[in-house]
Amino acid sequence: MSEMSFDVLIVGAGAAGLMAAATAVKRGQKVALIDHNKVPGKKILISGGGRCNFTNLHEGPHFYQSNGKNFFKKPLASYRPKHFIELVKKHRVPFYEKTLGQLFCKKSSSNILELLLKECNLETGESVYKFFGQKNLSVSYVEGFYEVKNEHSLFRAQKLIIATGGLSLPSIGASDWGHRVAKQFGHTLVEPRPVLVPFTSLTITKLNLRGQSLKASVKVGKKVVSEDVLFTHKGLSGPAILKASLFWKAGDKVSINWIPEVIEDELKQSFFQSGTQATFGSLLKERLPKKCLEAFLKSIGLTPNRKVIETSKKERQKVLEMLFRYTFTPDGTEGFRKAEATAGGVETKEICPHTMESHLQKGLYFVGEVLDVTGQLGGHNFQWAWASGTVAGQSV
Ligand SMILES: Cc1cc2nc3c(=O)[nH]c(=O)nc-3n(C[C@H](O)[C@H](O)[C@H](O)COP(=O)(O)OP(=O)(O)OC[C@H]3O[C@@H](n4cnc5c(N)ncnc54)[C@H](O)[C@@H]3O)c2cc1C
Repeated sequence: MSEMSFDVLIVGAGAAGLMAAATAVKRGQKVALIDHNKVPGKKILISGGGRCNFTNLHEGPHFYQSNGKNFFKKPLASYRPKHFIELVKKHRVPFYEKTLGQLFCKKSSSNILELLLKECNLETGESVYKFFGQKNLSVSYVEGFYEVKNEHSLFRAQKLIIATGGLSLPSIGASDWGHRVAKQFGHTLVEPRPVLVPFTSLTITKLNLRGQSLKASVKVGKKVVSEDVLFTHKGLSGPAILKASLFWKAGDKVSINWIPEVIEDELKQSFFQSGTQATFGSLLKERLPKKCLEAFLKSIGLTPNRKVIETSKKERQKVLEMLFRYTFTPDGTEGFRKAEATAGGVETKEICPHTMESHLQKGLYFVGEVLDVTGQLGGHNFQWAWASGTVAGQSV
C-alpha cells in the first residue's frame, strides 16, 4: 500500500471539488484530489445538453432552497457569477446567453472541465495531485489527521473536503459516500430526494400526447413556473416541470394552465355568448395545438366539433377548468436516475458558511451538492458548486 501526506485531501473531482482544489493550490497548499471515477467532472461534461449552463446572470439567493434558510447567502455573495465569467474569459471559452440570464458554452461543456483542470496546474509547475479511479474509499480520523484509504492507497492530511455531490445519476458515479461520511462524524442528513426531474403520471400518459410541447404555467403549492411543458411516455417533463419539481413532494397536487396567455374571463365570455355556429374547435384552435385540444376535450367527453351552444353550462365550465386549472397528482418522479439535482443532504446548520467547515468536526469541510442546498434550473447549481468550492479552498 502506498502512503502519502498532503495539506488537504479533496474527495470528489466534480465541479465543487475541482474549484476547491484550484483555489487551495494557488494558496500554496499541497492538495490531493481523489475520485472513484477514472475521469473527473463527468456531470460537467453532460450538463446543459453538452453545453454546460455554467452560471446565471440573474443569480440571487431566491433561486436556492435549504433547510438552513440563510446559509447559502454568504458563499454566494463572496463568489459571484462575474468571478466565474472572468475565468471563462481568461481561458477564452466562447459562451452566450441563451435565455433568462443562463450562460452556456458555445462549443462544448468540455471547455469548462478543461478550464478547471488548467486552473489546478500552476505556471510555477506546482499542481494538484490527482488520484482518479480510487474505489471503495473509507475515512478515519487518527490523532488529528484524516486518513482516506482503500486497499491500494492511504492519503493523509489535517484537512478533508467532501465534494462527492448528490445522488442524481448513479450511472455516472453519483453515490451517497459523502452523506455516509457526514453521518460518521455526527452530522444530520436532510432526507435526500430527486429534484429537477420529470413527473410520472398514468393519467397524463392516457392523454396520448407524447412528444407534444406547450408553453404553460405550472403551479405547485403557491409557486408558479411558466415555461415549456413536454409530454413524455411516462408523464411530463420540460423546463417548467423540472423547475416545479423542486417544490413538489409526494402526494402534492399540480395544477396547470395550458393557455397562460389567454385571459380566462374573455374566453368564458366567448363560451357563454358564442353564436350558434361556434364550436370549441373554432374558439380554441389558435390557442392550442390541434392534437392537444382534441385530447383535452376527449378526456372530458367532448370533441372540437361540438357546438358550444349545445353544451350545458356545467360542460363549458369543465372545459375552462381543464384549460386553466388542469389538476392532477403525479404518481411520482423519474427518480435519481433522471434527476438533475438532489434536494436535501448534509444539514447546513452544522456547517460554517464563512469557511464550509463542519461545526462538529475540526478540519472537515463540505462543498457543492452533498450539502442541503439546491438551486433552481438555469446555472444556479454550478454557481453554488463554484462558490462553495472557492470558499472552502480559501479556508483550508
Ligand atoms: C444531466 C444533468 C445536467 C445538468 N446540467 C446543469 C447545468 O447545465 N447547469 C447547472 O448549474 N447544473 C446542472 N446540473 C447540476 C450540476 O451538474 C450539479 O449540481 C453539480 O455538478 C454539483 O457539483 P458537485 O461537485 O457537488 O458534484 P458532482 O459534480 O456530482 O461531483 C461529485 C464527484 O464526486 C465523485 N464521487 C461520488 N461518489 C464518490 C465516492 N464514493 N468515492 C469517490 N468519489 C466519488 C463523483 O465521481 C464526481 O466526480 C446538471 C445535472 C445533471 C445530472
